[in-house]
Amino acid sequence: MKRIKQSCGLFFRAGDKENRSKGREEKTKLPWGERLRRWLYPAHCALCDGLLSGREKGLCASCRRRVQISCLCFENGFAPFPYRGVYRDAVRRFKYSGRAEYAVFFAEAIVCAAQKSVLPPGYGFPRSWRPDVLVPVPIHRSRFRERGYNQAEELARELGRLLHIPCDTKLVVRIRDTRPQNALTPEQRKENVKHAFAVKKHASIPARVLLVDDIYTTGSTLKELEKVLCGCGAREIYRVCICLAV
Ligand SMILES: [Zn+2]
Repeated sequence: MKRIKQSCGLFFRAGDKENRSKGREEKTKLPWGERLRRWLYPAHCALCDGLLSGREKGLCASCRRRVQISCLCFENGFAPFPYRGVYRDAVRRFKYSGRAEYAVFFAEAIVCAAQKSVLPPGYGFPRSWRPDVLVPVPIHRSRFRERGYNQAEELARELGRLLHIPCDTKLVVRIRDTRPQNALTPEQRKENVKHAFAVKKHASIPARVLLVDDIYTTGSTLKELEKVLCGCGAREIYRVCICLAV
């Protein structure tokens, strides 16, 4: 985990030194608003769910010592964790139990995974990635009302803050309330998300888009989203998730 603290330089665009130094300042001094928020609503450790104390951020000291971050690759993307054990439990709490604050650690873990260089030949990423914008996979408004937040959006915002890349949470909307993907076969998953997304009217689509989601299983949701974005002018699409289902 030490590498997380050192740099998030992989995705930085050239000449972004100023932003990098700003990033370091942010890490040393918490703004008043954030300090008040933490006092009112103490954050939980993303792995053991214990309360974080003092200046612990994302993970408690004990989990920080034992966490294992990998770089698990899938088509045009990667995830830092396998979808099993403590990581699966953590993502479930992040998604269904109101633990939006876990996004802080998951974003750090994604950046840390990106810095690992043991990648299969031919992937050419993430060092070559230069996303113009981060786009979280949108959820339907009815599900948003139910959960109170979109976990992919929380993650994309944190990631954008770490990488100094804008995050557009309104670029794509989910126009159909689809069934949960986890109980479906690969074929049903594809059908389930067909025509589920639409790009915001009159939006200009950046050339390079980094899609952000929680779990990668068959990739049908991301593929459908890519189809919509590419149909509107996006040229390169990259993907990051928290967990890869293995
Ligand atoms: Zn912990």
